[in-house]
Amino acid sequence: MYQEKNKVCKVLSAFAVILVELALMAATTVVFVMAFERVDAKRTEVAAAGSSTPATAAVQPEPDKTSQPDGQPLKQSEDWKLVLVNYDHELPDTFETQIVHEFSVDLDSRIVEPYRQMHDAALKDNIKLWLSSGYRNDDRQQRLYEEEVEAYYRTGISYEEAVSKASKSVAPPGTSEHITGLAVDLNGVLENFGDTKESDWLLAHAQDYGFVLRFPEDKQDITRIKYEAWHYRYVGVENAKKMKELNMCLEEYVDYLSKNQTASH
Ligand SMILES: [Zn+2]
Repeated sequence: MYQEKNKVCKVLSAFAVILVELALMAATTVVFVMAFERVDAKRTEVAAAGSSTPATAAVQPEPDKTSQPDGQPLKQSEDWKLVLVNYDHELPDTFETQIVHEFSVDLDSRIVEPYRQMHDAALKDNIKLWLSSGYRNDDRQQRLYEEEVEAYYRTGISYEEAVSKASKSVAPPGTSEHITGLAVDLNGVLENFGDTKESDWLLAHAQDYGFVLRFPEDKQDITRIKYEAWHYRYVGVENAKKMKELNMCLEEYVDYLSKNQTASH
């Protein structure tokens, strides 16, 4: 009888241990899922902003703030395709956006056909391109930017530091090129997009459709935006081919054109 009881006890305690283990596993899973969801929510939000997660942004090298060509704001080109919007250049009042809804995003009507042609040509090479983001107005940019600053601030750094870090992963309102309607974010704004065959295809062919990689890795000191493999900008076929040939980013190219014009007159 005692042995019987002992056996039951053993079975019961073994059962209890299993229960506790199961409970622990469940708790761990819940914590893990919650953490993952938080990261995922953040990622979706920042993806919409056309940027990377703060975690990655934080380990990026600090771009050199002093090396803008000549240290002076550049004169805007008269070519609408070359309109410059960055930390030193807001969208000129004279620039007229013509926003339409195509490919599930808002973008300037003038880049609809060029993008369609690029998309279709890519598809023929078995490359699938899709748009995550096109035109974004300033209100939306303001909200994304404030959320980014707050997220950094909550990590315990000073407000100034939070602003500085946030400015590198989400463009402050008025300085995001997405307000032109001429910029697009491709294929879900993935951190590793630069390692994909879609990215390879774009690097080889985008200029034939008037698009350029706007924030190349080797131009971070000039653009002052970290490398964004997914962000392309329409500048027109002629400009895009020339920029590629000269290995210039938009800031350099606008500067180069204005100097060349001055020289030839
Ligand atoms: Zn973008």
